[in-house]
Amino acid sequence: MSKDNLRFDSKLIHGGQIPDKAYGAVVPPIYQTSTFKQDSLGVHKGYEYSRSGNPTRAALEGSLASIESGNFGFAFASGLAAIDAVMKLLNPGDEVISADNLYGGTHRMFTQIYQDKGVKFHFVDAGNPENIRPLVNAKTRIIWIESPTNPLLQVVDIKKIAEESKQHKILLVVDNTFASPYLQRPLEMGADIVMHSATKYIGGHSDLVMGALIVSDKELADRLYFIQKATGAIPGPMDCFLALRGIKTLALRMERHCENAAVVAAFLESHPRVEKVYWPGLKSNPDYALATAQMKHYGGVVSFVIKGNDREEVVGFVEKLELFSLAESLGGVESLVAYPTSMSHGGMTQDERERMGVTDGLIRLSVGIEDSEDLVADLANALKS
Ligand code: PLP
Repeated sequence: MSKDNLRFDSKLIHGGQIPDKAYGAVVPPIYQTSTFKQDSLGVHKGYEYSRSGNPTRAALEGSLASIESGNFGFAFASGLAAIDAVMKLLNPGDEVISADNLYGGTHRMFTQIYQDKGVKFHFVDAGNPENIRPLVNAKTRIIWIESPTNPLLQVVDIKKIAEESKQHKILLVVDNTFASPYLQRPLEMGADIVMHSATKYIGGHSDLVMGALIVSDKELADRLYFIQKATGAIPGPMDCFLALRGIKTLALRMERHCENAAVVAAFLESHPRVEKVYWPGLKSNPDYALATAQMKHYGGVVSFVIKGNDREEVVGFVEKLELFSLAESLGGVESLVAYPTSMSHGGMTQDERERMGVTDGLIRLSVGIEDSEDLVADLANALKS
C-alpha cells in the first residue's frame, strides 16, 4: 500500500516517514548532533551538518509535506522565521498584496523591516477578493493571506484568490496557522506556499516555538531550501521530535478544540454582558457559509468583546479566570486567554489596530481540550462582576 494514498488521519501517523534503517525504531530518533562523520572527503550517509539537514528534521519535514498535500516541507526556528524565508524570495522594488487582517508580528515584519528594504506592500481587505485585482501590476510577486485571521477569525476565500494569483503568475501564500491542515489544506485549493506557526496547533502542547513552509513546486522548493540553509533559521532535533509527536494527535485534538469552541461561542453569544462574538461557526457570523464550504470545522479560537469595550472590563475579566491562563500564543491543549491590543497585536499602532477592528475591549480565547462544562463555568464566573 502506497503511503502517498493514505487518508488524512493515517498520514498524521505515517505520512512522509521513512522506517529507521539502523534499529527499526518506530519513532524517528532524536539525532541530537551538529555534525556527521564522513567516510571520506564528501562521502557520507546523506547528512553533513545539521543546519543543511538532520534526520529528525527530515522526518518532520516529510510529515509536514504529507499532511499539507505538498511535495516539500521546511521547518524553521519560529513562524516568523518561516515568514522571513518567504520574504527573502523578494528583491527591492517587488510588491506584495497583503490582507490587512493579519497577525501583528507579520504586519510588523512587513512594515518595519521589508518595507524599509524597498519592498512595497499594499494592504487590502482580502475578505472581498475583488479588492486584489486593481492592485496587481508587473511588480507584484506575492499575495499574502491568513485564514481564519488572528484575532478576528475572518475567513478568506482561498480558491477565489488562487484563481486570481494563477492568472497573473503571482505566488499565493496562505498562513494556515489557525486552521491547521486538519481543517483546511490551501495547496489543494491552488495556493503556492502554506505557512504555519507550528508553535500552535501543529506542536499542540505549548512546548516549542517553530515555523513551517510547505510547497509542491520543485523550483520554489529549491529556492526555499537554499534560503533555509544559507540563512540558518532552523529548529533543533528535539523540537522537531516534539512537533512530530504533536502531529500524530492533530486530528483528535482539533476535533475536541472545535467542539469546545462551539460550546464556548454559543455560551458567549447568549451572555448579556457580551457585545460581540467572533467565531466562523456561528450562524450569525458573516463568514459562516464560506467557512462551511472551505473548512472541515470552524477552529478552536473564539474572540469576543465585553460590553463597554474597554480595557478595565478586560482586566477585571482575565483576573477572575482560573482555567484560562493569561498568556501569549494559542493552539495548545490548555485553554489560554489573550489581549490582542497589547499582546499579539501590540506591535501595531492604535490606528492600525482600530482600522482592522482590534479594539480595546477585544479578548481572544484559545479554547483547549478540557471538559467544555468546566470552561463555560470559568467564563461564567469571570463574567459575573
Ligand atoms: N502567524 C500567525 C497567524 C500567528 O498567530 C503567529 C504567532 O502567534 C505567527 C504567524 C508567528 O509565529 P511564531 O510565534 O511561531 O513566530
